[in-house]
Amino acid sequence: MNAVWPVMTHDDPGIRPAGRPDRCFYCNAHIGEPHGAECVTVVRLVEIRITAEVGDKTFTSTWRVLEPCSFDADSINFMYNESTWCASNLLRDHVKPNVTWDQPGVWEVLQALYDSGESCLCSEISCEYVRDIDSTPRRRS
Ligand SMILES: [Zn+2]
Ligand SMILES: [Zn+2]
Repeated sequence: MNAVWPVMTHDDPGIRPAGRPDRCFYCNAHIGEPHGAECVTVVRLVEIRITAEVGDKTFTSTWRVLEPCSFDADSINFMYNESTWCASNLLRDHVKPNVTWDQPGVWEVLQALYDSGESCLCSEISCEYVRDIDSTPRRRS
């Protein structure tokens, strides 16, 4: 385990209302102990390619996002394409600044589609892990 692996603190994101106040809800580390190797609160910065197919148009983007250090490319791809994660989450204000589309106006296209209310964006959007931008483990803030 790496020397910079995050240690559980009193204001740690691993402390959840449903768990104990002195232990990580996800890996059970006590305050002062390092988080577990699989703990989802320990993340690194990755690049994901988003592809949006709307009508006969295809848009692509890069998304800089924190993912658990324990998730490999396959588990990231599974999470975004085959799990319960919903692509409409991309429209949230805290996500958008981390996504760079290959052309202007894509958010407007996606928002209009979403606002039309016919469905979420899962049928238009697919995501693919590209690379680690910075593999340094850090805590999710
Ligand atoms: Zn933990
Ligand atoms: Zn969806």
